[in-house]
Parts: sequence; C-alpha cells; structure tokens
Amino acid sequence: MELPFAESYKIKMVETLRRSSREEREKWLKDSCYNLFKLRSEYVYIDLLTDSGTGAMSDKQWSAMMVGDESYAGASSYHLMKDTIKKLFGFADFLPTHQGRAAENVLFTVLVKPENIIPGNSHFDTTKGHIEFRKAHAVDCTIDEAFNPTLNHPFKGNINLNKLEKVLKENPIEKIPFIIVTLTCNSSGGQPVSLQNLKDVHMLARKYGTRVLFDSARFAENAYFIKTREKGYENKTIREIVLEMFSYADMMTMSSKKDAIVNIGGFIAMRDHDLFQQASVYNILFEGYITYGGMAGRDMSALSQGLMEATEFDYLETRVKQVAYLGEKLKNYGVPVLEPFGGHAIFIDAKKFLPTIPKEEFIAQTLAIEIYLEGGVRAVEIGTLLADRDPETRENRFPELEMVRLAIPRRVYTNNHMDYVAVTVANVYQYRNTFKNGFKIIREAPILRHFTVELDKIC
Ligand SMILES: *Cc1c(COP(=O)(O)O)cnc(C)c1O
Repeated sequence: MELPFAESYKIKMVETLRRSSREEREKWLKDSCYNLFKLRSEYVYIDLLTDSGTGAMSDKQWSAMMVGDESYAGASSYHLMKDTIKKLFGFADFLPTHQGRAAENVLFTVLVKPENIIPGNSHFDTTKGHIEFRKAHAVDCTIDEAFNPTLNHPFKGNINLNKLEKVLKENPIEKIPFIIVTLTCNSSGGQPVSLQNLKDVHMLARKYGTRVLFDSARFAENAYFIKTREKGYENKTIREIVLEMFSYADMMTMSSKKDAIVNIGGFIAMRDHDLFQQASVYNILFEGYITYGGMAGRDMSALSQGLMEATEFDYLETRVKQVAYLGEKLKNYGVPVLEPFGGHAIFIDAKKFLPTIPKEEFIAQTLAIEIYLEGGVRAVEIGTLLADRDPETRENRFPELEMVRLAIPRRVYTNNHMDYVAVTVANVYQYRNTFKNGFKIIREAPILRHFTVELDKIC
C-alpha cells in the first residue's frame, strides 16, 4: 500500500478544550450582542476566528525565547532577526513593530498623503483602514476570476495588469506612492499570486515610476502554491522561491502573527536606506527604539526561528493539506465553498448557503452565528460588516462575495477537529431553509466596525 500522508510534527504540550451546550451558547451570544469577537474564548470549542497569532510555537522557538536578549539597544535578538530577514527576503534594512498594522502605520505615515491612490489586490482590512484614515483611496485591481467563487484558477490573488495600468496611466504618478500586493490575498480567499504576476507588477511600477509594497503576512503559503502550481518552480526550494518573489518588491510589511508562527510581532523591511531613515523616526515615536520596535527580545528570537520553520516545505505541506482536508469534507457534504481552497482558511459562500436572507441583514454574519450555535465553532464574517461603510457617502458597501471564513491556526488542531467542524457546518446546511431573518446593527464604530459592532436579531 502507498503510505498515507501524516503531519510533519508531533505534539509536546496540550491545552484542554471545553465543550458547551446549545443553551449556554445562546445566552453567551446574546450577551455578546451577536458579535463573535466579544465572546470569551472559553465559550468556544474550536476557534477558527483567525489564524493570526494563534499558532503553536515549536520546541525550537520556545528555546529561542529563553536565550532572547532584552537589551534596549542593539540586542542580539534584533541582529538575529535582521540577518534572517536579509537571508530570506534580501532586504538589508528593517524595523521591528509590534504587529502588522503597526508596520502599516509607521510606513504609511511616511508615504501616504491625502488624495493618494493605492492600487492593489483586495487590500486587507487594516491596510485599507490605514489608507482611508489618511484620506487616501485603495483601488482594487484583483483579476475578475477571483470574484467567481468556484472558478478553478491557480492564482486568484493575481493583479489584473490592465486594471492596474489604467490606474497608473490615468492619475499623476506623484499621487500613487506605491502598489500593494497582498501575499496570499486574504480578502479574496487566501488565494496566491503567481511569480509571473509579481514580475509583471514590478515591471509596470518601474515603467510608471512608482514602488511595490508586499503585504506579506502569508508569503510562505504563497511560495508553497508557486512551487506546487507554477510551471518552472516545482524543483526550487521554498526559500529560493521566496527570495525571487521579494526581488520584485521595494519594501514589505509583515504581520508575524501569520507565517512567522509567533503570537505577536511584525516588521517593515525595505531596500531604500533613505526610506528606512524616515520611517525610523516614526518607529521610535509610535513603536519603540529601532532595535526592538515594540517587541521583546525573546519574541524577536522566536520570530526569526519561526520564519525559518515556515519556509520549510514539509511544514507548509502539512499546513496547506490540513486546510484542504477540511475543504474537501465540506464539499462532500454539499456545502458551497470557495475553490481552489485557500492557504490558511476555507471560505464558505454565504449567499449560496443562505439565499433567503437579504444582503441588508448581514448574510455571512447570520451564518457565522448559526455555526457557533450548532457546534461551538467560531468562524468570522468576511462580508458586509467587514466591508464597512463608504468613507464619503457613509452608505454600507455590499461586497460581491459574502463569505464565512474558517481560518485554521498553525499546528494547533488535528484532523479530528476538522471532522467535527465539517459536521457542524453540514448540520447547519441541513436546516438552512428554516432561516428567515438576519440581523440589524444597534451600535457601530466609525472605522473597522466589525470588531466591536453590536447586533440584534430581526424578528
Ligand atoms: C493580519 C494582516 C495584517 C495586519 O496585521 P496585524 O498583525 O493583525 O496587525 C495586514 N495584512 C494582512 C494581509 C494580514 O493578514
């Protein structure tokens, strides 16, 4: 017999999970104003809210924490991180920050001015938040194929070069400080960008005289997809692919809570030393001195080790295959899921799942709530709540896709947990026709409202 696939690690430490009853969950959810972010984590059995900062560190990362250097300036942990970033991405200059959005805050304070235009592939929510907060505009140039939830395209995170060139051509280039490429593209379903596309975007940026920023949270998963899907890369190592990817970027922002497999941390890295010096001013102001930037030395050491582990093929194969395992299960139960499966999450097509709920009543949120009630599984809405209001008209923005995301933390759950999640969702699918009403907003914040919004049932 052919030997089956199995995880590339074993478990050394465990954490107890608590199950709950449907009655308990109904009460907890009501007390949380139907916002899953407001639930206490003990009230959740399997937590697929996010893969951000929720990964399990390895024995090597934990030992790196013990030898972390907590010197205020010039710590060896900082130099370890600097060397690792240089080796993996090719950038000589870097600034540590406490997480990804802090990296955006520091860099965008230097680069983004009111009325600027920042084209990219479905900008991540905090990225868009930091752009719009500065009265600039994010323009989505993702390929149209990304909006067809079942079309099988290997690189649905790609930028449509015609859309991008139109933006570059029709606006004064001084208004476009950079192009953002998000790897993998979270907002379009954890979909990768091909190396060819990265190369083409770089060429367009050079042609028109602007720069390229990689929003890099899941760069390693992106590299795995390049290796397994793009012609010519099958025999390259993940690290060779990563180095080539970043040769087409001028700078990067990183949320280390994803593909650096740490619980907190981030950084900015760049080629332009002047830009580094300008950004250093704001790093000191907002984050901390340039050799720690809001991170403990031990966290920088664990982060460096995490970057090395995340760029190993065996780790990535285990990771991406577990996500696909859940995707296949759901598909077999008839649940409408986005395909191809993403690198870090499975996305459920909520409009197809719940066709009777009007879009004004938050279709994806309604589904995420039912999934929690059914099995204590916490997912997240990627729909109208997240899309927020138009900053000028203050009208709700209704995205083309209403999705519920099941994000899988790295190295945390087993495939038995995935089986449980799949049955939870399949049960909701069985009684989907009994849903008549969704939710209405009681209270919301002016920006990034999904984190704190309060809702009530429409009866
Ligand atoms: C998570 C994430 C961010 C923001 O990072 P935080 O660490 O959560 O602040 C930015 N961009 C992308 C693509 C992300 O996934």
